[in-house]
Amino acid sequence: MTTASTPAVPQTLQPFLAKPKQLMINGQWSAAKSGETFDVFNPASGEVVAQCAAGDAKDIDQAVKAARKAFEQGPWSKLSPSDRGKLLWKIGDLIEANNEELAQLETLDNGKPYGIALAVDVALAADMFRYMAGWCTKIQGDTFPITVPYAPDNDFHAFTLKEPVGVVGQIIPWNFPLLMAAWKLGPALAAGCCVVLKPAEQTPLSALRLGELIQEAGLPEGVVNIVTGMGETAGAAIAAHDGVDKVAFTGSTEVGKLIIKAAAGNLKKVTLELGGKSPNVVYKDADMDAAIAGAASAIFFNQGQVCSAGSRLFIEEDVFDDVLAGVGDIAKNMKVGDGFDSATEMGPLVSKEQHDRVKHYLDAGKAGGATMAVGGGLLDRPGYFVQPTVIANVNDDMKVVKEEIFGPVVTALPFKDDREIADRANDTDYGLAAGVWTKDISKAHKLAKSLRAGSVWVNCYNIFDAALPFGGYKQSGLGREGAKGSQAMFTEMKTTIIAREPRKMPRMGMAAE
Ligand code: ADP
Ligand code: MG
Repeated sequence: MTTASTPAVPQTLQPFLAKPKQLMINGQWSAAKSGETFDVFNPASGEVVAQCAAGDAKDIDQAVKAARKAFEQGPWSKLSPSDRGKLLWKIGDLIEANNEELAQLETLDNGKPYGIALAVDVALAADMFRYMAGWCTKIQGDTFPITVPYAPDNDFHAFTLKEPVGVVGQIIPWNFPLLMAAWKLGPALAAGCCVVLKPAEQTPLSALRLGELIQEAGLPEGVVNIVTGMGETAGAAIAAHDGVDKVAFTGSTEVGKLIIKAAAGNLKKVTLELGGKSPNVVYKDADMDAAIAGAASAIFFNQGQVCSAGSRLFIEEDVFDDVLAGVGDIAKNMKVGDGFDSATEMGPLVSKEQHDRVKHYLDAGKAGGATMAVGGGLLDRPGYFVQPTVIANVNDDMKVVKEEIFGPVVTALPFKDDREIADRANDTDYGLAAGVWTKDISKAHKLAKSLRAGSVWVNCYNIFDAALPFGGYKQSGLGREGAKGSQAMFTEMKTTIIAREPRKMPRMGMAAE
């Protein structure tokens, strides 16, 4: 591992950084009612780069009311699907037109390499709005030929409509700040909902810039409201608010369970995209170069802070040493540094808290007798850097193999044959994703079918597209995002039955007409 330099924060960000970071409620920017703010850090240096309004329950309440008004009275609910689509497309265009600034904000706020922020986060965010723009005119129900045994002489026209679920609270994480905002806002707006969005307190900046772009696109006031603030205050207030019809959350499994409890009050609908401990399986007949590079990228992409990271690397016995050495070489030679240095391949972790959390797992691995084949420590420099780490000599029951680390730390585990691998891969509370590397397509099919995971990548990893559903089995979540899956997240289904002849209801029983 080599370390890259620490360039200055780009001057082009200064105009945005110089502005106060306020809440966007009902089309207006304002401070939190309490007047409180919180600091935003550059994870590459640990320095404070901005102060954001710390919204709490009072601000959330105001935002929910604004969203309700826009949903029930405002122009939003009366806008044609086609006009809604045009607005979403325009947001996608504005993201693209401002892609460099948005990518710089992601690097400053999250730490990820600028080139990745530009090519992955920002490009996929624009794509999601455009993809969802197309759905606005295609969210539709069905018609049903029905036979009602107790009304044989009548005839019914029965159909379903998919209607917007209403006011949606959206709570998002810090690992892909802009992209997660797009994943949440795109489908909710396509369905005709109004939104209160709470970005993660570690990474609020790109969502605030997106708020400005949403205004520039011409979305009516109150349709999207953005409240920055802490999870325990602003986030919890969204989950508990009776005026919220639905909450969509991405984050830790622990908080996902809290959201479900808080949502019980008014039985708001809930969808969750949570953690993972995904198996990545390399068979001995795989294309070795591709598998080794793929296994490294599956864990080191985004500093390992990816819910679908391939953190349990299962390697068939005969090729275990070769694959371990190959992934280890990549880890050793990886350029770790400031995301604004174009040579950087891996940036810092997002926060001090995350830095401490990963250290805790590295210590647990060492204490449990695991071998740090490569890395295993923090970097001795300012900022929240961790060495890309490959852990060997582990068994399936160790903490580092069982629990989500959410850092650039992979555990390598040998396996014997086809018979044992599916059981071991599935031996987890999570079920978000999995990878399979083999040239034998029937073997790939067989394993893919037996894996209890929401996404299975064969001879590739971390391939995302707005047209693909994404979400988890087991404790990795509830529901699917992207594609048609999002419609179920943000619509209610209404069944309407119209009688050809007014039905003369019998005084008793069902039969007489
Ligand atoms: P992490 O601990 O890795 O930051 P979290 O699940 O805590 O992951 O955070 C994901 C999102 O959930 C963030 O926007 C955060 O503010 C929010 N959040 C945290 N705690 C709560 C909570 N109790 N209720 C609602 N939202 C929360
Ligand atoms: Mg947390």
